[in-house]
Amino acid sequence: MTPEEEAIARAELAMSLRRQNVAGHKVLAALESVPRSLFLGAAHKALAYADRAAPIDCGQTVSQPAIVARMTEALELTPDVTVLEIGTGSGYQTAILARLAGHVYSVERFRLLSDLARERLAVLKVANVAIRVGDGHDGWAEHAPYDRIIVTAAAPAVPEALVEQLAPEGILVAPVGEDGAVQELMKCRKADGGLVGERIADVRFVPLVPGPAGRL
Ligand code: SAH
Repeated sequence: MTPEEEAIARAELAMSLRRQNVAGHKVLAALESVPRSLFLGAAHKALAYADRAAPIDCGQTVSQPAIVARMTEALELTPDVTVLEIGTGSGYQTAILARLAGHVYSVERFRLLSDLARERLAVLKVANVAIRVGDGHDGWAEHAPYDRIIVTAAAPAVPEALVEQLAPEGILVAPVGEDGAVQELMKCRKADGGLVGERIADVRFVPLVPGPAGRL
């Protein structure tokens, strides 16, 4: 793609997301400001501005932009909030969170994905993100509590450590359901130490797999 073609494709995607009303102005502006092609490997760059999920390394996927927009909108981000993200993947969603939140902590089980995401965020001069390799089931206790938590891999239930690490009144957005089935994208608020939630959409995410990856 030439830079002109890329600019047109980006603008078309932004217009289509605006028409679908998937998110408000601030979230869509953040999506527009992040070049999705940077987060895809050479073989998949042509998919960068299609409203589709795309393959990334380690057999994982970067979500469809409309879903990224809806999840980001559901988090109700403001510049003073601290966010925990489980499943850094390509770092695309991380970059968008970083544009709208105060600080982002992101956990990924594959070292390769974590290293690539860190490099890409450095290219974009994103400075308010910390990434570590680990099992997202455990959250990241050191920096808890978090005002917001986003999980970008599906689990049959929200891991207990994440509920504990969410601040009172905090918001958690996560796909809940079995691997390979349609899952429910949930938006939950913490009240009286537990989660009270509503379903936002039907989705299909890769699974939240226990333990850090042995290879890669
Ligand atoms: N938000 C990502 C999409 C990630 S796909 C993006 O914008 O690209 C889901 C990611 O969750 C994958 O990278 C996968 O390796 C990671 N993941 C799965 N189980 C995990 C776990 N237990 N802890 C941390 N990351 C996990």
